[in-house]
Formats: sequence, C-alpha cells, structure tokens
Amino acid sequence: MQKKHSLAYYIVIFVIVQVIWLSIAGLWISRFIINNVRFNKIGEEYAIQIPDGGAVAILVIGLSLLVLALAGMSMLFRFLNVQFNLARLYDNFIANITHELKTPISSMQIAMDTIKTRNLDQNTQQKFLANIEEGTQKLKNLIDNILVISRLEQKVQIFDCGVVEAEDLIKENIKKLAAEYAVHIHLTSDLTPKTTIVFNKMAFFLIMKNLVDNSIKYSKHDVRILINLSHHKKWIKIVYQDNGSGIPPKMHRKIFRKFYRGKNRNISNVKGTGLGLYLVRELVKYHGGKIKILKNKEKQGTTFQIKLPQYPLKKKKYLKKLLS
Ligand code: ADP
Repeated sequence: MQKKHSLAYYIVIFVIVQVIWLSIAGLWISRFIINNVRFNKIGEEYAIQIPDGGAVAILVIGLSLLVLALAGMSMLFRFLNVQFNLARLYDNFIANITHELKTPISSMQIAMDTIKTRNLDQNTQQKFLANIEEGTQKLKNLIDNILVISRLEQKVQIFDCGVVEAEDLIKENIKKLAAEYAVHIHLTSDLTPKTTIVFNKMAFFLIMKNLVDNSIKYSKHDVRILINLSHHKKWIKIVYQDNGSGIPPKMHRKIFRKFYRGKNRNISNVKGTGLGLYLVRELVKYHGGKIKILKNKEKQGTTFQIKLPQYPLKKKKYLKKLLS
C-alpha cells in the first residue's frame, strides 16, 4: 500500500523546491548585473563603446517573468492548502458520520432486542418504542441533509418553489419545531401579512430545523430562541438568536464551510458532521438570500441574520426562474 505522507512533509518539500529555484534565479540576476557592470568598466577603461545588447530590457523581462512565476507559485500554494484542508476535513467527516450512523442504530437495536426478548409492561414498551422513533428520526434528518446537499451541488433544479407569506411560513415552522424539540421559540415581527417570498416549504423547514438543532446541541441549559422579522429595503430580515455557548469571533469566517466543526466554549463531546450550517447557507443562497453571523455585544449566545428577497420587489428575474 502506498505510504500516506503528512501535510508538513509536502509543505517542507514545496518550501525546499522554492528556495532552490529562487536561489538559482537570484544567482542568475546577480551574475547578470555584475557582468554588465564589468563590461561597462572595461568599456570606460579602454574608451570603447560596448553595445549593451538590450541588457536593461533583458533584465526587466527576466524580472517580470520571475514575478509572474512567483505569483503563480503562491496561487498554487494557496490552492494546495485548500485541497489539503478539504482532505483533512473530509477524513474528519468520515469519522464523524460513522459515529452519527452507528449511535442511533445501536440504540435502536438494543430497544428492539429488549422488546422482543422481555415481557415488558405497556408503559416500558412505549418508552422503548419512543427510543426507536427518536433513532429513526435522527437517521432521517442526517440522510435528508446529505441528499439535499448532493442535489444542490449537482445544480439540478430540485425545489418546487411557491410564493408564500413570510410570517405565516415562519409561524408554521415554529409550531412544528416546538412540538418536535419541546423548545420555546419567541417570535416578534414588523412584517405586514402581505410580505411574500419565493420559497420551497421543505427547504425552509430544513433551514430552521438545522438552526434549532444546533441551538439545542450547543447549549448547556434550557435553550431560549428569539426570532425577529423585519423589512430592510426590498429584503426581509430574519434575526435568529439563541442563548447557547456562542461562536468565538475567530470561527465566524469558517462556520459555513463544508465539514467544518468548531470548538465551543464549555461544551465538549457534541457529535455532528459539519454539514448543518453549510446546508443552511446553500439553501438560503439557492432562494436568492444571504446569511451571516452577527457580532454579539452581550458575548452570549449566537445570532444569525438571514436576508431574503421580497417577491416581487427584488431579484425579479431570478425568483421568476425559481417559480417556473
Ligand atoms: P455540526 O453541528 O454538525 O458540527 P454545523 O455545520 O451545524 O455542524 O455547525 C458547525 C459548527 O458551528 C459547530 O461544530 C459548532 O461549533 C458551531 N455552531 C453552530 N451553531 C451553533 C450554535 N447555535 N451555538 C454555538 N455553536 C454553534
């Protein structure tokens, strides 16, 4: 089997190669300049005119090529770096997803074996059945996320979108999620009932579900979720806020990347795949919107801001295409 080298190995090789060829180029330039100076001196000594043969032009061309080669190398290095990071994140993803699949399957297996082999009373049996239902739900969520991501990445038109009233849609989702997660979500809104967006209902549910799921996972105590809806020119603004462990500012830039998993204050050992926020961002983008994390003045919890184009005021052409 081929030996797998570490990232440091490739970086060291890359740096050595760069040092070698830069030294050769440096040597060539210094020899060129020294020779040129020597020729000029000889010319002065013997009072003869030595034609410079376009020496300056050659030097300028040589230096420009060197700068171009350096720029190319630095781009190549950045590209390699991205690829290495992706490969590392992918390895983590495989380890994480194996765990995410195995855990619910094992607990469902235990629950089924217990129901089959023991003579349980009605109540205990219901508890085990609830465990099985929970495991099935977890697996379904995971598979839904992966399927939607793969279709989004293949850029196939996958969602049947419709014109929906934004506030109604959010209220409907809050109701469903409050029942599924037994969590209280407080909604405030300045929207008029006629404010409409173009969205696929299942996609909107996936967005909300991933946000709520994270708020619960990354919170040590009872979670409080606040959602505010408002107008912002031709956009509607959804501000989603929880009181969990928060996301350190240095992680903000990376948080929506595929497979990225962060380290959270006071919270350890939370399992995940690093796909949730990536999917949220892709779905928001698909519907013509934007998402970002807002800096939190109180330094507690996490606040996301989602902006969606109002229909038919904004991004008319794009939204019409979604509707066709
Ligand atoms: P996962 O939860 O599977 O790790 P996500 O893409 O959903 O992947 O989230 C990426 C990272 O962002 C998480 O690992 C976590 O560190 C951080 N994160 C996401 N949502 C929250 C939140 N509501 N509170 C604190 N940290 C969060």
